[in-house]
Amino acid sequence: MTSTRYYCPFDCETTIIKLPIETDNDDGKSRRYNQASLSITPLPFKFIKCRREVNDIDSVDAASGIQATQFYRVDSFWDFDNVGVSKPVINITSDQVINLVRCDTNESENFLIYRYLTCGGCDKGAVGFGGVPLKKDVKSHAAITVIANANDLIYFVTV
Ligand SMILES: [Zn+2]
Repeated sequence: MTSTRYYCPFDCETTIIKLPIETDNDDGKSRRYNQASLSITPLPFKFIKCRREVNDIDSVDAASGIQATQFYRVDSFWDFDNVGVSKPVINITSDQVINLVRCDTNESENFLIYRYLTCGGCDKGAVGFGGVPLKKDVKSHAAITVIANANDLIYFVTV
């Protein structure tokens, strides 16, 4: 299967994930989401766009990186090549909710960010997150009782 390799934006050599080639064209739209809003202040991690190629012209500044505005929904945590996960984000005072809009349907979805993804090589991030989908009327994790483990989260990677 042909795939596109996405590299760490910081060390520029660690492969974060390999995604099917259709990710890069219209067929991948159903898995692409645009970031609409983020209810996190201050942001513990800035989302930085993964590099598509080592010499990707979009990623000239590896140190500061390019802030990601688009995310790709990954099937499973095990699809990643090299990532680390942060400890669960439990914030009593304010939930870390990201609002994403699906590229094909323009449907808006809220996710509670539960873990941030970092590069498995250099441990810098964030290059994505693992989240819990929130129902339209739910805006707080108070409604979510127990999250069993990392496998139950929905993962998004910056692309
Ligand atoms: Zn790295």
